[in-house]
Amino acid sequence: MIITEVSKLQTICESLSSIEEGEEIGAQLLKELTETKSGIGLAANQIGINKRVCVVNVKEPMVLINPKIVEKSEEQFIFPEGCLSFPDKKIRTQRHVSIVVEADNHEGQLSFSADSDDINDAFECVCVQHEIDHLDGFTMFDRQYIVEPYRAPKSYGRNEKVTITDGDETKIMKYKKAQPLIESGAWELSEIQINV
Ligand SMILES: [Zn+2]
Repeated sequence: MIITEVSKLQTICESLSSIEEGEEIGAQLLKELTETKSGIGLAANQIGINKRVCVVNVKEPMVLINPKIVEKSEEQFIFPEGCLSFPDKKIRTQRHVSIVVEADNHEGQLSFSADSDDINDAFECVCVQHEIDHLDGFTMFDRQYIVEPYRAPKSYGRNEKVTITDGDETKIMKYKKAQPLIESGAWELSEIQINV
C-alpha cells in the first residue's frame, strides 16, 4: 500500500542503528516495488515506515540504508519525473548531474552520473536523488522546474497608437502607419506604449 498523503510524505525519516533491520525493510520495499510494475524506486516512508531506507531498481536492485549525498555537482539538468505516491502527476524537475552517496550497507562511496550515453545512468542518478529526498521529507514538487510564463507579444489594433523609435527619434502614430516602418527594420516599437 503506497502512501499518497503529502503530510505523511513530509515526515523526516529516522536513521537506523541496525543494518539487519535496514535490510529487512529493504527487502520489503523491493517486494512492494516489484508489485508496482512501473516503479524504479521506493522510500520506506512511502509505505508508512519512517526509517532511512530506500531502494532503487534501474540496472539492478539496490538497497540504501541511512544514505546521504556527500557530494553533488553544481550543474543541474531538467528531467521528466513521476512518483508512485502521485500516480497521475508528471512534472519536470531540476536534478544534479552527478552525486556521490554513502550508505551504511555499502563500503566506500557510490557515484551516480547522468552524464553518460546510457539513459539508465540518468534514471538511476535521478532516482537516487528522488528517494533520498523522500527520506528527508521532500517530494518531487520541491524540485520542480518552473519556467517563467511565456508572454506572447502584444498584438495591436490598427488604430491603436504606438510609440516607435529609430534610436534617435521617437514618434507616436497609429499602428497601421507604424507597421510598415517597423517592417522596414529602421524603426522598432518602443517599450513605452500609449493608449489614447
Ligand atoms: Zn517518489
